Amino acid sequence: MQQAVPEPQSFRRVLSSMCTEPHPAAREAAVRFLATNPGDPGTYGAAAELEARAVDALGELAGLADPHGYVTSGGTEANIQAVRAARNRARDEWTSPPESPNVVAPESAHFSFAKAADVLGVDLLTVPTDGDGRADVDAVRAAVGDDTVAVVGVAGSTEYGRVDPIPDLAGVVEAAGESTPGGDRPLLHVDAAWGGFYLPFTDHEWCFEHAPVDTLTVDPHKLGQAPVPAGGLLARDRATLDALAVETPYLESTSQATLTGTRSGAGVAGTVAAFDELWPAGYREAYETATANASWLADALDDRGFDVVEPDLPLVAADVPESVFEALRKREWRISRTGRDELRVVCMPHVTRRMLREFVADVDDLR
Ligand SMILES: *Cc1c(COP(=O)(O)O)cnc(C)c1O
Repeated sequence: MQQAVPEPQSFRRVLSSMCTEPHPAAREAAVRFLATNPGDPGTYGAAAELEARAVDALGELAGLADPHGYVTSGGTEANIQAVRAARNRARDEWTSPPESPNVVAPESAHFSFAKAADVLGVDLLTVPTDGDGRADVDAVRAAVGDDTVAVVGVAGSTEYGRVDPIPDLAGVVEAAGESTPGGDRPLLHVDAAWGGFYLPFTDHEWCFEHAPVDTLTVDPHKLGQAPVPAGGLLARDRATLDALAVETPYLESTSQATLTGTRSGAGVAGTVAAFDELWPAGYREAYETATANASWLADALDDRGFDVVEPDLPLVAADVPESVFEALRKREWRISRTGRDELRVVCMPHVTRRMLREFVADVDDLR
């Protein structure tokens, strides 16, 4: 007997995911573009044109007037590709190319950089963060050496929503260039996979307009309210994308800079549709609502005597006993923990005040 495909989960109790319900317009556009492949622009011209619009939109968000880039499968691919471009550019362009290339990143960097290092044969040098979970600039400076091809800054860390001092990291990269004979310097990559759609509404200095950032990751399928899969890689220079291109003998186009081959136009179309609907007023409203919710939740947990990590971007971490955490999970709250075992609540667009009130009522019931 044929089994019907079941319903997916509801978002009613999802508190730790960085994905959310796509905007209805994004959902609709994604469905129309399901059978397209922007990886083959000669054949799928409409999808390829939309992708150029998506890249321009992400450039606008991240303060870059003439962006190069593409819609990736997610932040992981964008981060891998940024490291790959930095490695290739150092190999091909530096006066003395690095013998064993490395990347310097704060320990708060996403685990996708460990994958990048593994796949690319690059060493990942992780350095400590300061007391508040931000990259320690002195530690980064001390770790950067002649073989460093990229320095990573995180703008909205996955665990605590912290933003590294990007202009200071740019200073480290610049100084590294001044100390080499050819003036060769590591590329500065900013990972704003999650934070990118909230940060334009904050005072943080995080993007291309604030510092000489070379590449940046920002994911429409997280706070952009586009359907999965839709990540974004942006680069200031054409040469960075060129460093990723390989020849494609049997496609209508002659080269491809993406990591995946065939990829769905759904994410591309969803990105453009969501951006058209939400930029900037809708995204600003989402940010403001989420910020109010995060501070309400932080206060509520603090009032109950839990140690709360003061939110910056709307992501709340709090030290909740194991027994309460497990009991909350039994009540179907989808929650996760930080590396230090704190409860972590990500205030995504689907996370409403009402949901948080229910959650705190359950906490009261269980503690
Ligand atoms: C989510 C996230 C990633 C990974 O993105 P995927 O879309 O899951 O591949 C990378 N960096 C940061 C900061 C993230 O929050």
